[in-house]
Amino acid sequence: MKIFVVGGAGYIGSICVEEMLNTGHKITVFDNLAEGHRSAVDPRATFVHGDLGNHAELSAALKAAAPEAVMHFAAASLVPESMVNPSKYFRNNVANGINLLDAMVENGVKKIVFSGSCAIFGTPDRVPMTEDLPVRPLSPYGQSKTMVEQMLRWYDSIHGIQYVSLRYFNAAGASERFGEHHRRETHLIPNILAVALGKKDHVEIYGADYMTPDGTCVRDYIHISDLAQAHVLALKCRASTCYNLGSGDGYTVKQVVEACRKITAHPIPAIERPRRPGDPAKLVASSKKISLELGWKPRFNKLYDIVGSAWAWHKTHPDGYPD
Ligand code: UDP
Repeated sequence: MKIFVVGGAGYIGSICVEEMLNTGHKITVFDNLAEGHRSAVDPRATFVHGDLGNHAELSAALKAAAPEAVMHFAAASLVPESMVNPSKYFRNNVANGINLLDAMVENGVKKIVFSGSCAIFGTPDRVPMTEDLPVRPLSPYGQSKTMVEQMLRWYDSIHGIQYVSLRYFNAAGASERFGEHHRRETHLIPNILAVALGKKDHVEIYGADYMTPDGTCVRDYIHISDLAQAHVLALKCRASTCYNLGSGDGYTVKQVVEACRKITAHPIPAIERPRRPGDPAKLVASSKKISLELGWKPRFNKLYDIVGSAWAWHKTHPDGYPD
């Protein structure tokens, strides 16, 4: 298929692009490079430097690419930032999301795979989290992802755009070629590995008083290549739907720090700090629905595989991408 990938120069987008190219799809990447990196775009893809906020630019690029499907990775994605700057989240994620959907309507593109988030559920009543849990976001980030899912339903019923929302849990790890490089890093695993690389003295643990086995937050880390595989499968969906996407295993922050210590053979000092606003105590996916319906099966569902692949990439790219 010809696929138009918005945000294909970012961490998740770049590895999904690589996976789709490996399975024979033809890819155009549309990215403003505000968060992404030009060198993270697989050279087999066509690259268009453009902004999702610029409707004319976007619509022209979509027309030229004439894709059968769109994948939408271009969003602001930091819960803590959204708690101090909600405007950025509603503008980038919701307003620009409308731009994308309108450009699809104008150009007759009828299929979209959307980067959803487990943040739509806020604090869940139970884990593992199935798709039927109530949607109660705790942050503007989670709210913005909820609003786009709601818009998708209307664009489907009114304009016949078929959507698949993949609600990611914590994407982590790297492929051999592409990895995680945020200019301002807030994510747990890269922050821990930065200590092992000698770039930071210690890692901070945000909250050790949660109702979890060791008091630190539990998250479900899913290997980025498994997440990319789900995108390839989602292209085959014929009806609009949503899937929760995680490995199904939960690890505390302290367990992740410990795994990083073992893999890097570095002591990685850790300091406990107050809770970070907007963080639920425990998020673990049930990926039953996507496994049953699409045959998705994680290949790297051990935390050690995930951290090991991230460490391999960071060791060979200690400063991340050059651009
Ligand atoms: N976290 C932490 N120290 C860090 C970064 C994150 O203790 O330097 C915690 C954070 O509070 C959360 C978990 O690690 O409980 C995962 O955070 P991350 O930002 O990686 O992903 P999120 O779950 O927010 O999408």
